[in-house]
Amino acid sequence: MTVALRAVLVPLAIIFAGPALGQYLTYWGDVHGHTALSDGKGSPDDYFTHARDVAKLDFVILTDHDFGNGRPNWRMPKENWALIQEKADRYNADGQFVAIGGYEWTSQGKYWAGFTNGPSERLFPGPPKLYNHKNVYFTNRVDYLFSAKDAPYNNPNALAEAVGRRGGLIQNNHPDVEERDQFDYLPANAAVIANTEIYPDNILHRGKSYDARGEELARGFLDRGGRTGFVAGTDTHDGKPAARTAVLARELNRAAIFEALRHRRNYAVNHARIGLDVRIDGHFMGEEFEASGKPRIVVDVKGTDKIEEIAIIRSGATLFEVTPKSRDAHIEHTDDSFGGSYYYYVRVIQADRDEHGNRSHAWSSPIWVRQRR
Ligand SMILES: [Zn+2]
Ligand SMILES: [Zn+2]
Repeated sequence: MTVALRAVLVPLAIIFAGPALGQYLTYWGDVHGHTALSDGKGSPDDYFTHARDVAKLDFVILTDHDFGNGRPNWRMPKENWALIQEKADRYNADGQFVAIGGYEWTSQGKYWAGFTNGPSERLFPGPPKLYNHKNVYFTNRVDYLFSAKDAPYNNPNALAEAVGRRGGLIQNNHPDVEERDQFDYLPANAAVIANTEIYPDNILHRGKSYDARGEELARGFLDRGGRTGFVAGTDTHDGKPAARTAVLARELNRAAIFEALRHRRNYAVNHARIGLDVRIDGHFMGEEFEASGKPRIVVDVKGTDKIEEIAIIRSGATLFEVTPKSRDAHIEHTDDSFGGSYYYYVRVIQADRDEHGNRSHAWSSPIWVRQRR
């Protein structure tokens, strides 16, 4: 069966079709992964083939590092960047499978001469900046890779301006790694740096619990007035991308996937493909609007297992919480204490667990609501 047919036939892919609701379909993808072109395993062919034929994704982005771990002087050669884009074009098939070429802008504190936590590569003068990593991707081929190792593109503002001029998009990666300056960019550049990876605050791995602060740090940026949607990626280094980001798009091609990601009409999961639709007064996730009355939040969840918890988070605190214990849930909640300017997002937690014991989560991108004056 073709992927296009699958998108029509799998009930989850249809976003609760109703008279005014049928304009978007849900497409599943992975926005983060590596191959042997940087520090992962396998070829771009392996990566795209696995995404399409094994993980059954609708879209995938290949994001090898612009440097190689453990090889200080290495940078991605021009031919590799050309190869990523060439392979993405080869696998991309409108209506069936969207393959996107990208790279991971890999900033590290050790690039600055003043780095003291270990040896410095001394590429730039002064105290270290901890901008962390950002994935960069384009709909069309771009000859030049704007590397974190190039002085003109070693900061998020310069990167966003260069990428924005070429119609590309950027996301903030894994917010708990060298994160101090990750969100240090002009508010206007949030139009290009549209999304941030989100994951649970605690992650279980091989019997140990890790303090990952994935949701806490992403939410912290929102609390400071930042604008970002939520995506997730496997960050696979084994050539095994999987469904982590759902986008609500009108059709399956690069332009439509980019249009959705640019408007933050997307949500993130860490494991199961949980169906999630969040509207406030009819506005979709990612939107900003002014409300004259009390906002009415409508949440539809189509779980793949029992839903343990659905929480509506408003500007840093839980506004409303239910424990449905069923597979599907429909919530309508009016924010009676509304009065000002808030963001809202929804977190869903399911009963099922992955092989390490982590429960499946889903996080909608926020919706921003201001009171009309
Ligand atoms: Zn990274
Ligand atoms: Zn990565």
